[in-house]
Amino acid sequence: MTVGIFQPNGGWIEVIAGVMFSGKSEELIRRVRRALIARKRVQVFKSHLDDRYNGVYAVGSHDGRSIEAIPVDSAQQIALRLDPHAQVVAIDEVQFLDAGIVPLANSLAARGRRVILAGTDTDFRGEPFGAMPHLLCAAEVVDKLHAICVRCGAPATRNQRLIGGQPARYDSPVVMVGGTESYEARCRACHVVLPADESQGKLL
Ligand code: ADP
Ligand code: ZN
Repeated sequence: MTVGIFQPNGGWIEVIAGVMFSGKSEELIRRVRRALIARKRVQVFKSHLDDRYNGVYAVGSHDGRSIEAIPVDSAQQIALRLDPHAQVVAIDEVQFLDAGIVPLANSLAARGRRVILAGTDTDFRGEPFGAMPHLLCAAEVVDKLHAICVRCGAPATRNQRLIGGQPARYDSPVVMVGGTESYEARCRACHVVLPADESQGKLL
């Protein structure tokens, strides 16, 4: 990880990008743990459209380790709940947040905070997800993690959406709340996006 050698005097932004199951949460938790060992004051947020909780809960990683995080739905909620004394601000699932996350992350870094952002950089179509492209540009440090393609075992860089076990069409919504979809990590060659259903348009 390049982050270890990056030690500016002021604040900065780190982005942990990559496909689902690539270990972004694990890496965010690892960095947060190390910041805590260094006696930094750390605040962790997690956005997730499907999960609604009233209180503090855990940033889970698929290997079962966890740390406490504050659930949020918007950049403004983060701004409202910010601990003014936090030296490190970490946000998981940042791809679901609105464009306001870009100026917020930049202003935190400008005010001397270390900002750690983890998120999926591409949607199920393989296209840029939400504010991720802007966050990747704003960051001083970027790491792109890979999962393992469940089809062929190659490094996976794509989120394969399946609906009823079949690849999703191009025109299905980027975020399906409460849907029956599932996801697989796949490589470029094994990633399938079916063409948009043009019959929908013709019916109008
Ligand atoms: P992310 O935050 O990127 O979705 P997590 O940190 O939550 O990833 O989980 C990563 C873990 O997921 C891995 O350590 C591994 O145990 C598990 N895993 C499940 N499926 C895969 C896969 N296809 N490739 C790699 N790891 C996988
Ligand atoms: Zn593959």
